[in-house]
Amino acid sequence: MSVVTRFAPSPTGHLHIGGARVALYCWLYARKMNGKFILRIEDTDTERSTQESVQAILDGMHWLNLGYDEGPYYQTKRFDRYREVLDQLVKEGKAYRCYCSKERLEALRAKQMEKKEKPRYDGLCRERHESQPGPFVVRFKNPPDGAVAFEDLVRGQLSFNNTELDDLIIARSDGTPTYNFTVVVDDWDMKVSHVIRGDDHINNTPRQINILRALGATPPLYAHLPMILGPDGKRLSKREGASSVMDYRDEGILPEALLNYLVRLGWSHGDQEIFALREMIMLFEIKEINKAPAALNPEKLLWLNQHYMKTQDPEEVARRLYWHMEKLGIDTEKGPALVDIVKAQCERVKTLKEMAEKSCFFYGDIDYDAKAREHLTPELAQPLAAVRDQLSQLAEWSPEGIHQVITGVAEQHQLKLGKLAQPLRVAVTGGTVSPPIDQTLYLVGQERVANRLNQALSL
Ligand code: GLU
Repeated sequence: MSVVTRFAPSPTGHLHIGGARVALYCWLYARKMNGKFILRIEDTDTERSTQESVQAILDGMHWLNLGYDEGPYYQTKRFDRYREVLDQLVKEGKAYRCYCSKERLEALRAKQMEKKEKPRYDGLCRERHESQPGPFVVRFKNPPDGAVAFEDLVRGQLSFNNTELDDLIIARSDGTPTYNFTVVVDDWDMKVSHVIRGDDHINNTPRQINILRALGATPPLYAHLPMILGPDGKRLSKREGASSVMDYRDEGILPEALLNYLVRLGWSHGDQEIFALREMIMLFEIKEINKAPAALNPEKLLWLNQHYMKTQDPEEVARRLYWHMEKLGIDTEKGPALVDIVKAQCERVKTLKEMAEKSCFFYGDIDYDAKAREHLTPELAQPLAAVRDQLSQLAEWSPEGIHQVITGVAEQHQLKLGKLAQPLRVAVTGGTVSPPIDQTLYLVGQERVANRLNQALSL
């Protein structure tokens, strides 16, 4: 069987973490099986769907580098096809027009509630053969008895009694098809072999299987992913659930780190934590998806992110750092190469945003805040001036040369190295944290170091 998976978001918001995980699992499985991965935009709910959301989803997929082999398909462009299948079902007596008024349905519902029965359509129009004037919806003739059983690839054997399922409305009175119907037609037409999606859809599955069978189609295999919980193990808060993958980018997370984090949210391979993309593709197995919900773990994401900042091609990390520097309004043209900043900073920061914020001093002007000034005491004026003079004359600007100057001056003034290095750091960077002092000064550059020491000495 050739594997076809699809990611089928409704464009009613960003690409959030849950959606991105579904997309990743679908993508991974298609890649692993040399199959096809389809992107399908389920935009039939025209009131809630927006073009911004479509764009946000496409941007998110692009940023995560989850390429699709087909699509994006838009359901709103497939109405003719849905109409065709709908007509076929009605013609074959597998679906019917229902003329029941809103009032009748409401009264029915109230009566059922009163009797503590599950509200469901009573099938009044089911056997009506002649057309009637007035508005109607189209309902699918669900089998009245028996059960729909299927093997969920994550949860195992599941079975739903048909008596639990209603005669589902598949077209509204304005003729537009409903969600469960469009999904069925699309999965059928697109030859989807594996439906991987969140388990909030599990109750739709038996309905979709019944419709597929009525169409004479073989239902795909289903894998329903367990929920993602908040870090506290409780339901995701609105904010946690809504944060888009682009928020992670803005916070300075690398896409590779986010993918690694996502793959482990609900899937494991022994106790391995780090997966390069190629390895993920090789090792990913649907049957190893956990049944239990996974909890977000922001600490782990930061840990992974630092790992990727340290191990990825520094040129690539630098390219992404550039974006963050630009966002801070820093012109990185005049100053050290960003790739050297990455190498110097990756051990001490967890995100690219933090790296950018802590690297501004390499490029722009600096200020000395009150706390920094405390380090610049009058008795350090002489040694700092000596450092300035000797560094200005340094013939070869290198970390080693700089180191020699600093140790020389410290010895001369009978200062411990740290007692000189820290004020020097403050004088040159404006703050108290930076990479090792010789490396920091080296990257700041000879002329800038002299200027900043002058600036500090003038305080
Ligand atoms: N459009 C649905 C959603 O965004 C997904 C449908 C499906 O995967 O079958 O929740």
